[in-house]
Amino acid sequence: MNPQQLLEKSKKYMWLPFTQMSDYEQNPLIIESGEGVIVKDVFGKEYLDANSSLWLNVHGHRKKELDDAIKKQLDLIAHSTLLGAANVPSIKLAEKLIEIAPEGLTRVFYSDNGATAVEIAVKMAYQYWQNKGVNEKTKFVTLSNGYHGDTVGSMSVGSIELYHKVYTSLLFDSLVIPFPSIYRHSSMDGQVVRNESLQSLRKLLEKQHSEIAGMMVEPMLQGAGGMNVMPKGYLKGVEALCREFNILLIVDEVATGFGRTGKMFAVEHEGVRPDLMTVAKGITGGYLPVAATLASEEIYEAFYGEYEEMKTFFHGHSYTGNQLGCAAGLANLEIFEKEGLVQQAMEKADLISELFEGLKELEHVGDIRQCGMMCGIELVKDRATKELFPFELRVGYQSTLKMRELGMLTRPLGDVIVFMPPLAATHNQLKEMVSILKQGIVWATTEYARVNR
Ligand code: PMP
Repeated sequence: MNPQQLLEKSKKYMWLPFTQMSDYEQNPLIIESGEGVIVKDVFGKEYLDANSSLWLNVHGHRKKELDDAIKKQLDLIAHSTLLGAANVPSIKLAEKLIEIAPEGLTRVFYSDNGATAVEIAVKMAYQYWQNKGVNEKTKFVTLSNGYHGDTVGSMSVGSIELYHKVYTSLLFDSLVIPFPSIYRHSSMDGQVVRNESLQSLRKLLEKQHSEIAGMMVEPMLQGAGGMNVMPKGYLKGVEALCREFNILLIVDEVATGFGRTGKMFAVEHEGVRPDLMTVAKGITGGYLPVAATLASEEIYEAFYGEYEEMKTFFHGHSYTGNQLGCAAGLANLEIFEKEGLVQQAMEKADLISELFEGLKELEHVGDIRQCGMMCGIELVKDRATKELFPFELRVGYQSTLKMRELGMLTRPLGDVIVFMPPLAATHNQLKEMVSILKQGIVWATTEYARVNR
């Protein structure tokens, strides 16, 4: 099939996730290969991957150690079920995960994507209390604008209006408290925002803790909700309240895990010890669909007993614990160690924030938010009033189309431009990416916005 035929057939047969297909038809893209942080389309055009192929690529594409580990495993077996039978790479990866995970997490329950890891955490937290005979603890606290995946359970603990509202009657209710957004608070003072937000959480827990099973949080920053960074001390405060009111703390590290924020896991920024933690995306270096829900021994023990007691966790997917994926996961963590990648991510985050200085002067850059190598640039019509551009103008989307034309891929979250390059991006590549980022933003917020106003 030649590139033109592929284009036509992609429009005829494909239905892409999280994509309005009329947009795709106007601006189709078909990736054929990748090398390092560069991906190439079927016409041979190259793009810097500033989105890490949806926030997951760590070492770049075609990393030799990962390729070799998968090939080696392929000579043994590609997949066998984990239901009732462990497999070799899943055991080795589980040991490694527990070694690097926050203290107190001792068990690994595998799945194959982030939403499912969240779904599992929700079910585990719910059943944990049921198994202990505390039947009234059935609800979950979440933060406004939270995102935890697209399955019914994970959407129920999410609260992004644009993605979730249409499904409202399909979802179970969660108790949503406001995310402590510094940019959108009148004081713009982190301490004030933190204290106010913790106070409102305390009030909720004082009233309703006896019916709350757990609190679900994206630690340190909210990804899909707009790359919103929490004020310092907020997560630690949440942990303390969860302990005080005896509810489980569930952290969703699907996006933030594996060095992305400059620590192996984002909870390390504040020394927080969750009861449950979800991981996916970077777990295989961005190669294969593996996810996991890590649990404390106390939670594990609540499910342990005779089969007749019905304490078993009745959950499992066909591809759970896939051997090729777990072999990649193991090789991924070895590269992390060998290359000191978390330290590197911290240093590159400093470079990124230096490079972002050049964006601050732009007329329509309202806020630049960053936690390690996870960044968002919010575009606004008016910096003084923080007024947004009209929704229909799609300034964020237009700026990323321009970036694509200039040789860089990323996806916007409304008018927040995501900047999340692979951890392996070099200094020069980061400089080039930020330069394209700037050009795309300038074009969309000035020329394009003026003509289409
Ligand atoms: N949780 C968070 C915090 C995420 O950012 C995402 C995906 N962006 C998910 C869960 C869902 O992961 P997946 O796409 O693998 O289902």
